[in-house]
Amino acid sequence: MSQTPVPVVEFRGVEKTFAAGTARAFTALAGLTFAIEDLPGRGEFVAVLGPSGCGKSTMLNLIAGFEGIAPPTAGEVLVRGVPVSGPGRDRGMIFQRYSSFPHLTVLDNVTFGLELNGRELGHSAAERRELARHWLARVGLTPHEQKYPHQLSGGQQQRVAIARSLVLKPRIILMDEPFSALDEPTRLEMQELILELWREVEATVFLVTHSIAEAVYLGDRIWIFTHAPGRIGRELRDGIPSFTGRPPLEAQATREFQSAVESVTGVFQQVNGGAVPS
Ligand code: ADP
Ligand code: MG
Repeated sequence: MSQTPVPVVEFRGVEKTFAAGTARAFTALAGLTFAIEDLPGRGEFVAVLGPSGCGKSTMLNLIAGFEGIAPPTAGEVLVRGVPVSGPGRDRGMIFQRYSSFPHLTVLDNVTFGLELNGRELGHSAAERRELARHWLARVGLTPHEQKYPHQLSGGQQQRVAIARSLVLKPRIILMDEPFSALDEPTRLEMQELILELWREVEATVFLVTHSIAEAVYLGDRIWIFTHAPGRIGRELRDGIPSFTGRPPLEAQATREFQSAVESVTGVFQQVNGGAVPS
């Protein structure tokens, strides 16, 4: 028998209508269909751009299986061929704003998720600590492991969020405008870090961003969503150069980067008229 690879994430005709059947009914997504293959030894990086309110966060929340959003109103959301029925540690979410626990130290924030999944993961307390320290080192927070989140800069707080997510080895990483609240130099640092870590963890990443430059720098493919009800207006894969191993500032200075940004901007205008990514 031939083996058809099961997509890591698949949407089949997904519709999400909030407050369905009421006067306030609002269809955020409609007819959203796609399949992302799980490239062995190398997950894919999908960057998502679209106008404000077109359902980008809703799509991520459906994959995450968050209560109140999942399941879809119609269609199917499948992760590795199984309908999503709730959150799971195979999917990690990183939000724009700090999602750490304020009363826990940096180190305890990272070990906490491992404790929650303790029985399933079967780590000893010492192993949890070692794993947490490994990821804190990878995101450059070793000197800060005993601090509390409010003692950290915005960029450092996002590093905690990244470590908390990656320590659970998710196969799917969902990022909802993760760097939007950061200043530009910090944002570029975080882009470089995420590209480096992503190559190491080989997960499939969905990144929602309103920065076309960020989408070009990070994405293997770029989706441009239509106005709500959102769906993929255009998918761009060819002509998105890879900037593997090149820092963002160096990449941005190249001609190929600038022409990719121009062409994505042009397609965004075609799909969405005068709107801007938001
Ligand atoms: P985006 O992330 O693309 O800006 P969202 O996915 O957050 O958009 O939201 C899409 C649309 O659905 C928006 O108009 C938003 O107001 C609406 N919406 C999102 N969540 C809810 C909810 N829980 N209840 C009602 N409407 C919602
Ligand atoms: Mg959003």
